[in-house]
Amino acid sequence: MGYSTDIVIIGSGIGGLTAAAMLQERGFSTVTLEKNATPGGSCSSFRRAGYTFDAGASVFYGFSDNDRYGTLNLHDRIFRKLGIEVPVIPDPVQIHYHLPDDIDIPVYYHKEQFLSRLIERFPSEERGIRAFYRELESVHDILSALPAGSLEDPAHILSVAGNHPAKVFALALKTFQSMGGTARRYVSDKKLLRFFDMEAYAWAVQDALATPLVNAGICLADRHLGGIHYPVGGSGAIPEALCSGIRKFGGKILFNTEVSEILVSSGKAEGVRLADGEVITAKAVISNATVWDTCNRLLKDIRYRIEDDDYHLAPSWFQMFLGIDASVIPKDFNVHHIFVDSWMEYSMPGGTIYLSLPSLLDPTVAPPGKHVLHAFVTDEMGRWKNFRIRKSTYTKEKKQYARALLKRIEKLLPGIRDAVELEIFATPFTHERYLNRYKGTYGAQLFAGQNVLQKPQNRTAVRNLFAAGDSTFPGQGVIAVTYSGVSCASYIARKLGNPLDYL
Ligand SMILES: Cc1cc2nc3c(=O)[nH]c(=O)nc-3n(C[C@H](O)[C@H](O)[C@H](O)COP(=O)(O)OP(=O)(O)OC[C@H]3O[C@@H](n4cnc5c(N)ncnc54)[C@H](O)[C@@H]3O)c2cc1C
Repeated sequence: MGYSTDIVIIGSGIGGLTAAAMLQERGFSTVTLEKNATPGGSCSSFRRAGYTFDAGASVFYGFSDNDRYGTLNLHDRIFRKLGIEVPVIPDPVQIHYHLPDDIDIPVYYHKEQFLSRLIERFPSEERGIRAFYRELESVHDILSALPAGSLEDPAHILSVAGNHPAKVFALALKTFQSMGGTARRYVSDKKLLRFFDMEAYAWAVQDALATPLVNAGICLADRHLGGIHYPVGGSGAIPEALCSGIRKFGGKILFNTEVSEILVSSGKAEGVRLADGEVITAKAVISNATVWDTCNRLLKDIRYRIEDDDYHLAPSWFQMFLGIDASVIPKDFNVHHIFVDSWMEYSMPGGTIYLSLPSLLDPTVAPPGKHVLHAFVTDEMGRWKNFRIRKSTYTKEKKQYARALLKRIEKLLPGIRDAVELEIFATPFTHERYLNRYKGTYGAQLFAGQNVLQKPQNRTAVRNLFAAGDSTFPGQGVIAVTYSGVSCASYIARKLGNPLDYL
């Protein structure tokens, strides 16, 4: 037994929910299926003992209500369209970097304040620094003038190229450039180039040479324009608001509902089979899973199989979710930090420590007198495989690794080890189990030197099967997967004869 809908969406990550919300608002019927009890995937929240933790993301772009900064404020535009309010708090500092070579630099919302700190550290590179960030801004200028749509949709491409021919031509040239290659045109100081590597690694988990200039242009310019915001109540407020929008227009979201198979007949997706055997048929299926999970787990026909190295398999994470006493946090401590003790190891598992304390901005996410501290490092499944044979060994190893990380964090937050009142740890295995992400990966990335347009778009090898999320263009990050959701919905809506309006 089963039923039918226009579009079935596998997964309620931000990519899947965005696509569902756009299509449902346009009048299509959608059913979103989520294996977990709450929406959002890597952008969900969970509560323990009065603390609200962000499962992953906590630095958010795209919430500017000022359209003067262009079209990249996708969250704001989408929630306006859905008629849903999402209160957010501006964050004055995107990240505070604590790096080797005496690099201690907060990235302020105010660009000049940030540049002054960087130039103070690298005075002889002032001209190059200014020129490099100007170049990133010029990429932002182009992108923020263009409406979001599908690069696979000829009508969208013709409309954008017709209305903005010079910008489209300039952008096409920039897709061949990397952030690192561009930086090298302007500066030569090796320590400064390492800082730029970290500016890329912070969100791309790749060095600057492997990071497309186009993606860098959004992240490193928009933080000073649209700015960084935090949703009141935690990251889960974003998927919850998208779910409200979907329901408002009549869409369905089913939780605790895992999809086990995408049904394909004669090369065409016709629906999905749930883990309990129920079948839902649809005119189109959207997978919000990673490309490996879609091709190797959900599609059963071996002709669609892909290998690990068909894309760059990004690492996974070891995460510590801590409830801590507020007395240990210095006055004026920023919300987000990146800490590296050695350049030799920054890109190795555990080399770069990310810290996030959103209760400094939004006190509702921690009990009075306490803070939440989310600390995480890149990690790989292989390291934990043997420890998992016995639960007690696994627990002991997690604790031991957490202790070692906290010892390093003591350099920033003296006394932190004694201030911990609640601790929850997650390894790549947790990540894989909780999110159905192959090897717990941060996602599919391009190899260094590839053009950003080589990232998979929303269409797949199977007709009527589409993909949204961080395995598709433009890549990782909540605002990026939001773009992928919009472009996926745009393509499907036009194909089904009722195109979306531009946001
Ligand atoms: C530790 C960490 C920190 C991060 N920090 C930031 C940050 O500060 N800022 C930022 O912008 N980005 C950040 N990111 C990245 C960002 O969170 C992700 O890129 C983005 O949320 C991924 O969204 P997605 O749509 O691809 O889907 P996911 O978040 O992967 O969600 C997919 C959903 O699909 C469900 N699902 C999968 N398979 C099935 C199935 N078969 N049946 C039913 N349901 C299924 C999963 O349960 C999940 O809920 C961070 C990520 C991590 C892990």
